[in-house]
Amino acid sequence: RAKSGGRARLDVFDANLRRQAMNAMRMEADLRAALEQGQFCLHYQPIVHLESGIIAGFEALMRWNHPDRGLVPPGEFIPLAEETGLIAPMGRWALVEAIRQLAAWQRRFPRPAPLFMSVNVSFRQFRDDDMVGLVRDLLDELPVPPSSLKLELTESVLMEKPDECRLLMQSIRDMDVRLSIDDFGTGYSSLAYLHRFPVDTLKIDRSFIRALSTGDGSAAIVQVIAGLATILRLDAVAEGVETADEAVYLRGIQCKYAQGFHFARPAPPEAVERLLVAEDERMALPTPACL
Ligand code: C2E
Ligand code: MG
Ligand code: MG
Ligand code: MG
Repeated sequence: RAKSGGRARLDVFDANLRRQAMNAMRMEADLRAALEQGQFCLHYQPIVHLESGIIAGFEALMRWNHPDRGLVPPGEFIPLAEETGLIAPMGRWALVEAIRQLAAWQRRFPRPAPLFMSVNVSFRQFRDDDMVGLVRDLLDELPVPPSSLKLELTESVLMEKPDECRLLMQSIRDMDVRLSIDDFGTGYSSLAYLHRFPVDTLKIDRSFIRALSTGDGSAAIVQVIAGLATILRLDAVAEGVETADEAVYLRGIQCKYAQGFHFARPAPPEAVERLLVAEDERMALPTPACL
């Protein structure tokens, strides 16, 4: 009896595995179709300059506009896209779309410092694809200052493949395009390494901001990261700022930028444009006549 019970459990196990494999295969096919049918879109989340409180730029965040499931967040499809290699064409699409949007916004909303755009790039995409070539072509084609484009790479990737990363990063940096380390503080990063990468910005992970008010030492960590950024002459962006208290604290420790629901949620271009228009009105900047 024990034996047949074991067999039954194994059957259940197999069935689960099979179902998982089937789901992954279906999702892969769905992703491919989505790419062909233009079901991906970008939402943009403002990144705010803390001292002035104005929108300095945006992070482009991918969404999947699924015919049945509605708007699917990237956490549910990026990992599979990375496994299957689909991230390469998806990432190219995102980069093209984000830079075009940036060109349009820089023209419509001229600012003393041009608005910037930060785009997430997975390592697979960074390495496999001719990212450098694509970025160069886009910057040739569009009137966007290279320094207003930022690419976000996660810290874990940097530490896993430091040599490979450094070379790729250098060729990006040679074009004057900027590089950010995303989710900083969550990987097993070696601080000793940091200054050897040609990076411009540290994005302080949301988990530290989340814990600012709990008194478990997160405030100290955030302060140290902001201080480290200053010493290394890097910009710091605090991610996931949800309250006014957090924003005030961050401004107090000279963290330059912040991003989070307290300021604005990621939103489609039309909603972002309304924010920029309202900001222009507040600052009494002349609105271009072409509107
Ligand atoms: P990320 O790059 O760290 O992006 C920040 C995430 O935090 C976004 O989640 C954003 O919606 C969320 N967020 C922003 N402010 C707040 C806040 O105040 N509170 C909370 N709770 N969350 C906040 P999202 O859009 O779901 O993206 C998740 C991840 O998916 C991103 O993390 C990034 O790693 C990845 N991703 C998104 N778009 C792309 C893309 O185009 N390419 C690649 N390779 N990865 C992408
Ligand atoms: Mg990011
Ligand atoms: Mg991040
Ligand atoms: Mg994150």
